[in-house]
Amino acid sequence: MSGVLVVMEQRAGVLNRMSLEALAAGQQLAAKVGGGCVAAVVSEAGGLKVAGVEKVYSVEHALLKDYTSDGYVDALEQLVKKVQPSYVLFPHTYQVRDFAPALATRFMQVLISDATAIHDGPVFVRQLLQGKLNADYKQTGDGPCFVSVQAGSFRADAEAGADAAVEVFTPELNAGMIRNKPGEPFRESAQTVDLSAAPVIVSVGRGIGEESNISIVEELATALGAEMAASRPICDNGWLPMERQVGSSGQTVSPKLYLAVGISGAIQHLVGMKGSKAVIAINKDENAPIFEVADYGVVGDLFEIVPALTKAVLAAKS
Ligand SMILES: Cc1cc2nc3c(=O)[nH]c(=O)nc-3n(C[C@H](O)[C@H](O)[C@H](O)COP(=O)(O)OP(=O)(O)OC[C@H]3O[C@@H](n4cnc5c(N)ncnc54)[C@H](O)[C@@H]3O)c2cc1C
Repeated sequence: MSGVLVVMEQRAGVLNRMSLEALAAGQQLAAKVGGGCVAAVVSEAGGLKVAGVEKVYSVEHALLKDYTSDGYVDALEQLVKKVQPSYVLFPHTYQVRDFAPALATRFMQVLISDATAIHDGPVFVRQLLQGKLNADYKQTGDGPCFVSVQAGSFRADAEAGADAAVEVFTPELNAGMIRNKPGEPFRESAQTVDLSAAPVIVSVGRGIGEESNISIVEELATALGAEMAASRPICDNGWLPMERQVGSSGQTVSPKLYLAVGISGAIQHLVGMKGSKAVIAINKDENAPIFEVADYGVVGDLFEIVPALTKAVLAAKS
């Protein structure tokens, strides 16, 4: 085969959203480079239904039951050698970040990580410097090209068509090859706030400076009847609960209005909110990337603008 192999990720027999997005990216890439598109799922793909590809390889072995980077690298190296794709695509998940660079190295390649778009060539677009620059990457030389795709960059629309046939691939593995000892899988905290249903969201970022200032933004959210959300540093600092984080490692939201206060607009944040119907950004840096997705932008100091806005909203309501 030439074409594209998409390595998808499943947990308890369910493919994650990012894997479906990677599949969409794989289909897009295959349309550009030809050679077709196949998928692979490590362990338990038998019951999974994947449409829009020619075949799904179910990579099965007792030693792959628990995730280990050594096991995945050895198994997928053997699969890539069998399938011989020109491109190997992954979702940019934590697991992929762990094993995919080592897999690429087995083929004397690098991983082009976190691609946000694929242009003709094919050229893979990555963001640099917190989204301030877009850089184009193109593979030179021979060998499969390994690429991971950023969450939210491709639409994971359900593909029409019949479910692909599943072919079991059993790699040759032995326990001596696997140096890692799997620990308890990471469990995400229970989500008690569902921001995905909120029509209006006011989201606060590091521009707020310190925890005690968050009340300024909360007052605006209350005046607007909005849910509060935040960028990751705010939740990492414990200034707002983790479940209010928006972005690639937080919630994905699509409210009618998303008001971003003191948020720079890093790609990991944008992928969680760029589906919003209208975006207003308040930021003192006129070059902040958030303005690229904003419908309305206010360049200025949030400590002047937010209290004035709250006052105006309350006045308009009274
Ligand atoms: C694997 C991974 C996953 C991640 N997941 C997420 C995620 O899910 N969600 C997320 O948000 N981030 C995530 N991040 C972090 C992301 O890369 C950024 O670091 C983060 O989004 C930046 O948050 P921020 O915009 O609040 O802060 P900064 O980038 O520091 O931006 C602060 C902004 O405030 C502005 N500002 C400062 N003072 C004022 C003022 N007085 N008035 C107005 N504006 C002001 C500045 O101009 C600046 O633009 C992730 C990163 C990694 C590596």
